[in-house]
Amino acid sequence: MNASKTPPVIHTIAQMRRAVRAAQVAGQRVGVVPTMGALHEGHLSLAAASNRECDFTVVTIFVNPTQFGPREDFAKYPRTLEADLEKLATLRVDAVFAPSNEEMYPPGFSTYVDPPTAATLWEGACRPGHFRGVTTVVLKLFLAVPADVAYFGHKDYQQSVVIRRMVEDLNAPVEIRVMPTLRDPDGLAMSSRNVYLSVEERQRALALSRGLQLAEQRVALGERDAEVVRLGMVETLHAGGVTDIDYVAVVDPDTLAPLEQLAGPAVALIAARVGTTRLIDNCRLLPSS
Ligand code: AMP
Repeated sequence: MNASKTPPVIHTIAQMRRAVRAAQVAGQRVGVVPTMGALHEGHLSLAAASNRECDFTVVTIFVNPTQFGPREDFAKYPRTLEADLEKLATLRVDAVFAPSNEEMYPPGFSTYVDPPTAATLWEGACRPGHFRGVTTVVLKLFLAVPADVAYFGHKDYQQSVVIRRMVEDLNAPVEIRVMPTLRDPDGLAMSSRNVYLSVEERQRALALSRGLQLAEQRVALGERDAEVVRLGMVETLHAGGVTDIDYVAVVDPDTLAPLEQLAGPAVALIAARVGTTRLIDNCRLLPSS
């Protein structure tokens, strides 16, 4: 595979399915990386994981209208296909699936996936309808790109839980792999939405990763009261000038229910607005017994 050539872009579901089936008939294991484009190193790390574990890698680029609320940033979400293709040319990506809105949602479209219970909490509570859009588009992408393995980021932790559950509940024949969050050197989790931040806002945004780091440290030092850990994160956010908080939570990694005590693995979740930009981040908390 020529590492410096931009990957072929496929726009139709029929053509995409044929390409994946042809690879599978030739005995190749196919990996898919669903994205909304505006690619950064975090996305590329998912494609690199697919490269390592699969023979044929498809990256999908589709800004999915059904997962955005009416007052959210669908219209202004960055769309940078040419730059994305250049970035993917540095890896071995076999195809990019970039369907139009009409290809994914033709006139008359009216069937949606009702997401699992875990979708009612946190992001689901703050963004009504968001996960219904996510489960619907991800299932449609799995049907358009019938890959053997699909790669998602821990960055959107609740999304990964919701998708795992959907795949299990609906018997989707795909293995889900969740890969670590990539961060900028200063700790900020990479996100396509970081381009919205001014220099001053970007500095304030560092309070999210600082809060999570503090939570990790407290748990490593023996703190087992989840509320103490949670309040420490809230204080860190406030001290860093982040006061517009949607939620800060310490939750069970599977159910996402809030915890009182840290008796086993947990996840700390943060969602907050910095200026008008809504950011989410999370980390695992691993109390040593
Ligand atoms: P998005 O384009 O934001 O929908 O993200 C596409 C995929 O990339 C999702 O599975 C995200 O969880 C994942 N992702 C986003 N940011 C990061 C990051 N900083 N590190 C690793 N994966 C990420």
